[in-house]
Amino acid sequence: MRRVCVFLGSNPGTNPNYLTTTRALGAEIARRGLTTVYGGAGVGLMGELANAALAAGGEVIGVIPESLRQKELAHKGLSDLRVVASMHERKALMAELADGFIALPGGMGTLEELCEVMTWAQLGFHKKPCGLLDVDGYYATLCAFLDHAATEGFIMAAHRAMLLCEADPAALLDRFDTYTAPTVAKWVTKPQAL
Ligand code: AMP
Repeated sequence: MRRVCVFLGSNPGTNPNYLTTTRALGAEIARRGLTTVYGGAGVGLMGELANAALAAGGEVIGVIPESLRQKELAHKGLSDLRVVASMHERKALMAELADGFIALPGGMGTLEELCEVMTWAQLGFHKKPCGLLDVDGYYATLCAFLDHAATEGFIMAAHRAMLLCEADPAALLDRFDTYTAPTVAKWVTKPQAL
């Protein structure tokens, strides 16, 4: 693994532990000699992640659409800032650059980015690890919902299990190192037409 992509809030959230764990993840990625890939903003948890990784001597690549450069106040001190034309290009480039994906607490954007890489993983378009860094149970209700979706026959158990979940940055990155993608068909119930 060379580069880890992190999806996270452009807001800081209300619990100070979101900031603390974000900084710890940035520092841990750098300590392992890995490059951080993220959305390029200088605000919210996003800015904190980049600052922590840079302060620990790490390389940070930001990917930001031109339209958000002002709105999300692009980080000015990154090792590399890639300016792209659209949100779609942003996600595609982040996915291409990274060897694994982590979601820290965040809102709509974070969820959308996570769901896209998980969808691509279950379709076998990539075999890269995906994980939640679950600070103070922030993602407990999402995990419960995904369990429900699996029980109700919309997600295969093997695909549900692909989303790793840890509360500690080092523990999650350790699991990334030993991750192997499962090879299973997408269908929970095979369609009759196939
Ligand atoms: P949020 O979790 O809503 O604070 O958003 C986190 C990051 O995701 C921000 O940089 C948003 O600009 C970004 N984002 C939101 N929607 C999308 C999208 N459809 N494609 C790519 N990035 C997005």
